[in-house]
Amino acid sequence: MSALVRAEGVHKHYGRNHVLKGIDLSLEEGQVMCLVGPSGSGKSTFLRCVNHLEAINRGRLWVDGELIGYRQSAEALHELGDKEVCRQRERIGMVFQSFNLFPHYTALENVALGPSLVKKESRAAATAHAEELLRRVGLGDKLHSYPARLSGGQQQRVAIARALAMRPRLMLFDEPTSALDPELVGEVLDVMRGLAGDGMTMIVVTHEMAFAREVGDTLVFMDDGVIVESGDPREVLARPRHQRTQAFLSKVL
Ligand code: ADP
Ligand code: MG
Repeated sequence: MSALVRAEGVHKHYGRNHVLKGIDLSLEEGQVMCLVGPSGSGKSTFLRCVNHLEAINRGRLWVDGELIGYRQSAEALHELGDKEVCRQRERIGMVFQSFNLFPHYTALENVALGPSLVKKESRAAATAHAEELLRRVGLGDKLHSYPARLSGGQQQRVAIARALAMRPRLMLFDEPTSALDPELVGEVLDVMRGLAGDGMTMIVVTHEMAFAREVGDTLVFMDDGVIVESGDPREVLARPRHQRTQAFLSKVL
């Protein structure tokens, strides 16, 4: 099977708060999955589990054919060492709502830093690649700008370039345009659309339904820790089968 991400019965608790209640999904290489749902439904938690920022409590989660470290409440069935986790995480790029660029580094330095530190790429190679990526996100003229001199949309595009610099196999986006002024949303979505067109495998948490409809291969609607329904975004958006999906869509569409 060629699924790049596969979840089977994934559960996650924070203390007594049962946040993920048996998530099953699979994402093929080169596909875009849009994850939507009300605030608090567990979308960010799921991304954090995929990216090893959280351990799952039950079920199984594979990325790129490898099992992600998990614990089964009583018995620790399998726990990956730190080194192994680092190696797996290198293949996953993540972009958050807040851009979190290093304020004292230029755009170019922000993008080149990871590969030279973590991947031990030569400074010259990392810089050349960073420059290429910044051009790809439309910031070829901002290489030496500091984040404070960039708009929110430009900063988010630097953050995308920074994630791409690690040459990920999978990109996770957690509401990447939610913190942006409305007129800056389009430029970030355009970059993401381009990435999808180039064949990047992506999971995108978003409230941008037009983007989901146009770019998504699947739309997954989550509510209260479960997947309520999923399918072709055009289908789900036009004919939601569940009342909870209808109620949510009536608010965001
Ligand atoms: P979403 O991204 O869909 O808005 P989250 O995954 O952020 O939802 O949150 C799902 C639930 O998990 C919420 O009830 C939230 O309060 C809780 N939660 C999220 N992160 C933590 C954490 N680090 N510790 C405790 N509870 C958390
Ligand atoms: Mg969230």
